[in-house]
Amino acid sequence: MNVQSLLPKLRDPDEREAIRFDDRSLSYRDLAGAAATVAERVAGTHRVAVWATSSPQTCVAVAGAVMAGVPIVPINPKAGERELSHIVADSEPALVMVEPGLALPEALAEVPAHEVSLEPGTGEFPAEPDGETPALIVYTSGTTGAPKGVVLPRRAIGSNLDAVADAWEWTGEDVLVHALPLFHVHGLILGTLGPLRLGGTMRHLGKFSSERVAEELAGPATMLFGVPTMYRRLADDAERDPAIARALGHARLLVSGSAALPAVEHQRIERLTGQQVVERYGMSETIMNCGVRASGDRRPGYVGRPFDGVELRLVDDHGDVIEVRDDDTVGEIQVRGRNLFTGYLNRPDATDEAFVNGWFRTGDVATRSADGYVRIVGRRATDIIKSGGYKIGAGEIENALLEHPGVAEVAVTGEPSEDLGERIVAWVVAESTIQPSEQELVDHVAKLLTPHKRPRVVRFVDSLPRNDMGKVMKKVLRG
Ligand code: ATP
Ligand code: MG
Repeated sequence: MNVQSLLPKLRDPDEREAIRFDDRSLSYRDLAGAAATVAERVAGTHRVAVWATSSPQTCVAVAGAVMAGVPIVPINPKAGERELSHIVADSEPALVMVEPGLALPEALAEVPAHEVSLEPGTGEFPAEPDGETPALIVYTSGTTGAPKGVVLPRRAIGSNLDAVADAWEWTGEDVLVHALPLFHVHGLILGTLGPLRLGGTMRHLGKFSSERVAEELAGPATMLFGVPTMYRRLADDAERDPAIARALGHARLLVSGSAALPAVEHQRIERLTGQQVVERYGMSETIMNCGVRASGDRRPGYVGRPFDGVELRLVDDHGDVIEVRDDDTVGEIQVRGRNLFTGYLNRPDATDEAFVNGWFRTGDVATRSADGYVRIVGRRATDIIKSGGYKIGAGEIENALLEHPGVAEVAVTGEPSEDLGERIVAWVVAESTIQPSEQELVDHVAKLLTPHKRPRVVRFVDSLPRNDMGKVMKKVLRG
């Protein structure tokens, strides 16, 4: 598709449903009409913010600014004061677009607000700028540090969405359902611009519920995008309600991303619904890197191969490229291609540090099998534990613990230890009906994996600290 025009269907709109939030549905004609008003309002400004509630107004604001070629900063409406002040000072938006009637917090007091109307206007879209023009500045989830503004040019979004659509046989006929927030790559680029670029439909559930997902999948929806915490709930609910299991089985494609989908959840969903989840791996800086193709082999624990246009390599601790292809040799994932961001806003230091010879260092560690399937082991910074002279991936221990019937959720971290360097700590949320003992869990891991991978400490907790994408914030656990 033409990368210059990101949303071609808005120039040639019809009555097909573009977006739906509860009972509010907008056709492409409605969306184009309302977006044209936004486009006129923002034209000529250098950057605009969107108060990204899960609402049709957010989609209209984003579509309008995209059509006007003005870079957008989506803001998490639940962001705290400090984070908001940082984002506003860092990105200096000319105005903030917001749903009518919402009061904006103090941190945005100095930024002129524009209330987004869903009424069709009479404005027209200007010609769109070239592919290197920034389209979005997305702040990272802040899983590992202060959020950084990732500058994504139009060509990265257009070319990557086309590659993903090709891999998933995703067309304008598809109806996508999800409940993802609209201020990250997953919900905004993949989950909103994705269907709109193809002329398909996005149905947003506002708040996730297995029942609502099932209703949509039993009806018009063909695809679901979710994060692993959602798939876990779907599996729990499918276990007690055959209608939910049936609806999931009905889908054309169930896709998981943003964090690792534990192999046990993949298998549980398959057993209950007959459907294998497709896993993909992406990040703010690169959009989508790898994914299992719709026609591909859906191996639990693997995120498939690089999408078209993405080059991927594994690099060892000395910076040497790993040529071995097997399921054991781990290295840092580095990527290159048209999908890449241009840099972190106002952070030339962080941008420089993130690249080696044009390759982006993802900070994620993985293996690559003989046939090119990537398996994410974890993040270099928090998921590789150096204990007793071994380098141990937290994910492998987490997966082993999840196979124990008494473990509902788990996160594994390392903490300083005099004799081991680091010792393995398991943070466990127990199943409500079965309370395993610490020793039982330690023995379970020692039996499934090699003994040096057993946790030295098990801490039972009521819940794990997670961010809005359901990712465990290990920096909070580690204190
Ligand atoms: P920050 O960069 O601020 O610490 P973040 O890295 O969580 O936050 P994102 O860019 O939203 O912010 O998330 C990208 C990260 O999510 C990847 O680097 C990877 O660690 C993780 N991730 C995404 N998809 C998967 C997947 N399928 N399996 C495992 N990890 C994944
Ligand atoms: Mg990151």
